[in-house]
Amino acid sequence: MKPLPDTIKDRALRPIARKVYEGKPVTPADARRLLTTNSVLDLGRLASHARERLHGNKAFYGVSMNLNFTNICALRCPLCAFSRDGGEEGAYLLTLGDVERRVKEAASAGVDEVHIVGGLNPGLALSYFEEMLRRIKRIKPNIFITAFTAVEIDYFARREQISVEETLARLMAAGLGAMPGGGAEIFSPRVRKIIAPLKIPGKRWLEIMRLAHQAGLKTNATLLYNHLETTAEIVDHLSRLRDLQDGTGGFKTFVPLPFHGENTGIAARRACTTGYDDIRLYAASRIFLHNIPHLKALWMYLGEKMAQVLLRFGVDDLSGTYAGEKVVHAAGASTADRGTEASLRRLILNAGLKPVRTTAGYGALE
Ligand code: SF4
Repeated sequence: MKPLPDTIKDRALRPIARKVYEGKPVTPADARRLLTTNSVLDLGRLASHARERLHGNKAFYGVSMNLNFTNICALRCPLCAFSRDGGEEGAYLLTLGDVERRVKEAASAGVDEVHIVGGLNPGLALSYFEEMLRRIKRIKPNIFITAFTAVEIDYFARREQISVEETLARLMAAGLGAMPGGGAEIFSPRVRKIIAPLKIPGKRWLEIMRLAHQAGLKTNATLLYNHLETTAEIVDHLSRLRDLQDGTGGFKTFVPLPFHGENTGIAARRACTTGYDDIRLYAASRIFLHNIPHLKALWMYLGEKMAQVLLRFGVDDLSGTYAGEKVVHAAGASTADRGTEASLRRLILNAGLKPVRTTAGYGALE
């Protein structure tokens, strides 16, 4: 039987509920209401309806490793606690031999996926990255490689003085499987000027993603929240993602990222999000981004308990085990820097859902 909008207690949300239950897109004004309501149980009903329509009772997770190959970065964004200047204390660069050693170790422990992001290191040619991907594939040919944000792709292309299309084609030929969604932050030029003034503008980030989708790469999209942004700026960000997705269909997963401010140059509104902030943001995203199939909660950013709760607020992917994550931990995340398959399965099962081990390609592995 079809759910009825009048099961939604908050009358102000009923017109939105009607659209959700009829499978119609909600408007930016609706998103604004969803992002500001205190009726979180109603939000959960609507977001769960949207999630179940897409994925039934399945919830995905991955057995993966993180490879943050260098923290030397030309941009030094104020929002970033991870980056260093070359030669500064704590600066590092992994050699290809180091990369191989780490991947071999992880592969023998059974990882299905490598997630690679790093700083914009002026010393690294595109050939370093091609070789990195080839060596990883030689270790385990069916390993799934998610690598290089739109910001990195733009930087590689400019450094090599070649087109973005050629950059992507070369990396895909070397083994690139999908792109992460980092670097989107928030598209608002007002906020971007403060938190990441030298990073490519939002328009360019979207353009790189359009080119990646046209080249046949699936990608994630992110939103960094809980810093200086307004609700209107969040809605604008989500609207731009939804519009691009209508044209390309290339975003597979939306990944909201709560900002961690420790060791950064940003005085955020609050030290960390509240549970209601996370619930509103995730549930509203699930409902508004009807055309992006997956919504991922990074337990490393949110904590395991909150990530689990969000499975009932639109989330269908609890992310991976991510051995060796460095970026959010540099900014003060208090979670462990690696998870286990058993703990992710337990979180999903304990929420009454069916765990499905997968990679960023969402092919089931079991
Ligand atoms: S956020 Fe990315 S681009 Fe900015 S300084 Fe950190 S590593 Fe570099």
